[in-house]
Amino acid sequence: MGRIVLKGITKSFGNAEVIHGIDLEIGEGELVVFVGPSGCGKSTLLRLIAGLDRPTSGRIEIDGEDVTRVSAADRGLAMVFQSYALYPHMTVRQNLSFGLENTRMPKSEIASRIDEAGRMLEIGDLMERRPTQLSGGQRQRVAIGRAIVRNPTAFLLDEPLSNLDAELRGTMRAELAQLHERLATTMIYVTHDQVEAMTLADRIVVLRKGMVEQVDTPLGLYNQPQNLFVAGFIGSPN
Ligand code: ADP
Ligand code: MG
Repeated sequence: MGRIVLKGITKSFGNAEVIHGIDLEIGEGELVVFVGPSGCGKSTLLRLIAGLDRPTSGRIEIDGEDVTRVSAADRGLAMVFQSYALYPHMTVRQNLSFGLENTRMPKSEIASRIDEAGRMLEIGDLMERRPTQLSGGQRQRVAIGRAIVRNPTAFLLDEPLSNLDAELRGTMRAELAQLHERLATTMIYVTHDQVEAMTLADRIVVLRKGMVEQVDTPLGLYNQPQNLFVAGFIGSPN
C-alpha cells in the first residue's frame, strides 16, 4: 500500500504554468523528499497529490487506481503542514480525534489509536492541554499525531519542521526517521533544506522551476549530480 505514480502532471494558475509535466513513481513504504529552492513548485505538487488541488493535465495513481478526480478525503492520505494548523479551542485529544468521530469508527478504536499515537510521540500526558499550552515541538508532534491516527496510506509533509529552532529540528528529524522505520508507511517530505533531505530520504527528487532535475538516492545525487544546479544545491564537491 502507498504506491504513488504521477504521469505527465502539469499545473497552471491562470496563464502561468508552474508545474511542467512531471513523471514520478514512489514505491510502497518509501521516504521520498522533494527538495528545491523556494517557489520551485514543491507545495503545489504535494497539494496535487493530496487532492487539495487538481492538476491541469496528467494523472495521479495510488496503488494502481486513478485518483486524479478523487477528493482529498477519499484518497486515504494525511498531510502535515509547516504551520501546525491545530484547532486552538480544542484539547490535544480533541485535535487528534477531530474528524474521526464523524466516521463509523468505534469510540474504543479511536481511543486506542490516540493512546498509541500518544505513546509513539510522547504526548500522552499532554492530552487535556490546549495548543497555546504547548511548546513548538509539542505542537508539531500533535500535528503529526493527527496524521498518524488516521492510519493513512501515505504521509505528505510540507516543511513540517521549518518553524522550529535548529536544535529541535534535528531532534524531530531523527524522530520522524524512527517513525518512518516503525510505521513503514510511504512518506513524501517537502523541504528546501538540503541537510534534511540528505539525512531523511530513501530517494530525493530535486525540483527546479516546476520540473524534475534529478531523482536519486542521497549518495547517488552527491556522487553523481547531473548538472551544476544539482551539485550546488546538494553541496557535492564536483
Ligand atoms: P514552493 O513550495 O516550492 O516554495 P510553490 O509550490 O508554493 O513553491 O509555488 C510554485 C509557484 O506557483 C510559485 O511561482 C507560486 O507563486 C505559484 N503559486 C502557488 N500557488 C499559487 C496559487 N494558488 N495561485 C497562483 N500562483 C500560485
Ligand atoms: Mg512550499
